[in-house]
Parts: sequence; structure tokens; C-alpha cells
Amino acid sequence: MATIETDEHKALREAVAALGRRHGRGGDTGQLWADAGKLGYLGVNLPQEYGGGGGGISELSVVLEELGAAGCPLLMLVVSPAICGTVISRFGTAEQRQHWLPALADGTRLMAFGITEPDAGSNSHRITTTARRDGADWLLTGRKVFISGVDIADATLIVGRTEDARTGRLKPCLFIVPRDTPGFTRRPIDMELSAAEKQFELVLDDVRLPADALVGDEDAGLLQLFAGLNPERVMTAAFAIGMGRYALAKAIGYARERTVWDTPIGAHQAIAHPLAQAHIDLELARLMMQKAAALCDAGDDMGAGEAANMAKYAAGEACVKAVDQAVHTLGGNGLTREYGLASLITAARVARIAPVSREMILNYVSHQTLGLPKSY
Ligand SMILES: Cc1cc2nc3c(=O)[nH]c(=O)nc-3n(C[C@H](O)[C@H](O)[C@H](O)COP(=O)(O)OP(=O)(O)OC[C@H]3O[C@@H](n4cnc5c(N)ncnc54)[C@H](O)[C@@H]3O)c2cc1C
Repeated sequence: MATIETDEHKALREAVAALGRRHGRGGDTGQLWADAGKLGYLGVNLPQEYGGGGGGISELSVVLEELGAAGCPLLMLVVSPAICGTVISRFGTAEQRQHWLPALADGTRLMAFGITEPDAGSNSHRITTTARRDGADWLLTGRKVFISGVDIADATLIVGRTEDARTGRLKPCLFIVPRDTPGFTRRPIDMELSAAEKQFELVLDDVRLPADALVGDEDAGLLQLFAGLNPERVMTAAFAIGMGRYALAKAIGYARERTVWDTPIGAHQAIAHPLAQAHIDLELARLMMQKAAALCDAGDDMGAGEAANMAKYAAGEACVKAVDQAVHTLGGNGLTREYGLASLITAARVARIAPVSREMILNYVSHQTLGLPKSY
């Protein structure tokens, strides 16, 4: 596996960075989404036969990182092409692929992803959203929380469960639920995040879905789910690294100029060293992200699982520290709206909590990698 970026990746990075610079922070996210779609960046990971770029999560993570580093990350990249696009291209029926992939690739359609439930939280084995058969249809009932972008998404890929006809046990299944399906309601959650994408609480009350709303095979739900969750972790790492780089660049620029004694504040090691450490941590996190992305793209779902968790952890921590240090470097200006860094303190925490918290990754590594016993 190459640890040095290929020329193609470097060229992609530069081209996306240029788009990000043209757009900048605080611009129209919908317009950026449309522009990135036209340039083919939203579907770089999707198959060429469906209008995608024929690459993988390695390429898509470059896109998200660079937009984030320019101050304009597209959160829905984590969900629409990375999770939903991957699951549909790997497991969807021919009709589902034809219907969704070209539109997800050019960005004319978006798909949200809903797994989190209020009563299950981090323990997704406890989700209770249940699908039962009614003739050829499905009836889906349950609740979801913190689901991003449901208002702008044409449909949401909902993780539910069906009852196994033989054992009676519930097993995970994925359903495509169009936004305006009767019985599918949403309420925006009042988040303390200044982001274009909103989070929603969802209620599914006997939502009637046709047979072809089920993605792929009823018996392979768990496998299909994992195929989407690894890209989600890699992309969250890209989101975090991009944001960390953005904050760090602002702080470095400021520390070079701002002089309160005889030298710019960046000459003081108490300011310079934490910035250097933040840069090293972001670079290290990116290396692990590249490893995880390469394993995803090689189809090694098990190997990718461990690496993607570690990359998400490392990137989340590196982002939180970089943002914290950046705000501090600006002194009082770090807390002004004009410099726009303070709001990143909240935004950076998202990568520590979602899609899987720091503690749950430490649990995973403790149990799966180190073979330590479980406390829960
Ligand atoms: C901005 C944002 C966007 C999101 N978008 C989506 C989305 O699009 N789709 C979606 O499905 N979900 C989404 N989520 C939900 C997110 O994935 C969850 O918030 C996350 O999985 C944590 O679940 P929880 O909030 O219920 O926390 P809880 O599970 O209640 O955990 C609370 C705290 O307890 C700790 N904890 C829990 N169990 C253990 C344990 N066994 N050992 C140690 N510590 C433990 C956790 O680490 C955490 O710190 C989003 C969340 C946010 C904040």
C-alpha cells in the first residue's frame, strides 16, 4: 500500500482545494454541492458505469478533507455518496442502482442515513425500528434521532429490523424511505452548531413501503450495514482533519503577524510548539485515514473496520486539539465572530461523538484488538 500520495490524488486535492477557495467559508452550501457535483467530485467513489469517478473512499476522503480545509466542508458527503452510495452500489438491486447512483454521483439527489435511536444510542444492537410484511409491502415503525440532512435529502436510508421467519429473532435491514412518504415525519433538533446541515428527530408510524424499498438481501443486513459504516468513519476522519487544518492555518497566519512585544507571538515556543504538535497529530491521523480508506477500497471490510475506527478516533482528537489551540492563539480575537474560530469548538466535538463516540472506539480496540474483557 502506498503511503505517499499518487499524482492523481495530488491533482484531485489541488483541484478541490481551488473549488473550496473560490467558495470559502459561510457561502451557499447548496451551490457548493451543485458545483462539486458538476465537477464530478461528489461521486468520485461511485462506479463509472453509473456516472461516478470509478475511484473509492480514498478519493472521496480527499474531496471532503480539502473542502473542510478551505472552511466549507460538505457534511452530507459522509452520508450520501459514502454510506448510501457504497451500500447501494455493492448490494442494491439493478433497479436501485440505476435509479439512485447516477443522481447521487452528480449530486442532483441526496440520501440521508438513519441508524441512531433515542433509546439505543451507542448500543445499535438495541434499535427497535421494525419492519413487518403486509402483503407485498413493508410497514416500518420506529423513532430515530440526530439524523442529518433529512430535509434536503430525497430519501433516508433507514436501518430497521425484520423478524426472521424461522427463528423469530430480529435482524437488521436497510430501507429507502422517500422524504414525503405518509407516516414519515421529522422535527428539527435545536443544535448549538453553526452548520448548514440540520439534525432531525424522525418518527416512522406504519410507513408503507413497496417491496423494492428494501436494499439488497433481507438475510445479509449486517454485512451490508458494515459496508456502509467503515466509509462513514473514514469520511468523519476526513471531515475532522479538514476542519483541524482550517483552524490551524488561521492560527498560523495570525501568529506570524501579531506582535505584542518585540517579535510576532509565533516566535514564542509556548505558541509555536502546540501548533506544531497539532500539525503532527493531524498528519498522523491522515496516515491512518489513508490506510483505512485503502483497506475499504480493497474490499477488506474486517481490516478496514479496525483502521477506520482508529482513524476516526485519531482525527477527532487531533481536530479538537487543533481547534482549541487555534482559538487560544488568537487571544480575545479567538472568541469574536469576525475571526470565526470559536464556533468551531462546538463543531469539532461532533467528530468526537459521531458516528461512534471516542469511548466506544476505545472499547472496540480494547476488546477486538487487545483481547481485553468487556465491562458491559
Ligand atoms: C451533529 C451530529 C450529526 C449526526 N448525524 C447522524 C446521522 O446522520 N445519522 C445517524 O444515524 N446518527 C447521527 N448522529 C448520531 C450519533 O451517531 C450519536 O450521537 C452517537 O452515536 C452517540 O450516541 P448518543 O448520542 O445516543 O450517545 P450515548 O450512546 O447516550 O452516549 C453518551 C456518552 O456515554 C458514553 N458511553 C456509552 N456507552 C458506553 C460504554 N459502554 N462505555 C463507555 N462509554 C460509554 C459515550 O461515549 C458518550 O460519551 C449525529 C450526531 C451528531 C451530534
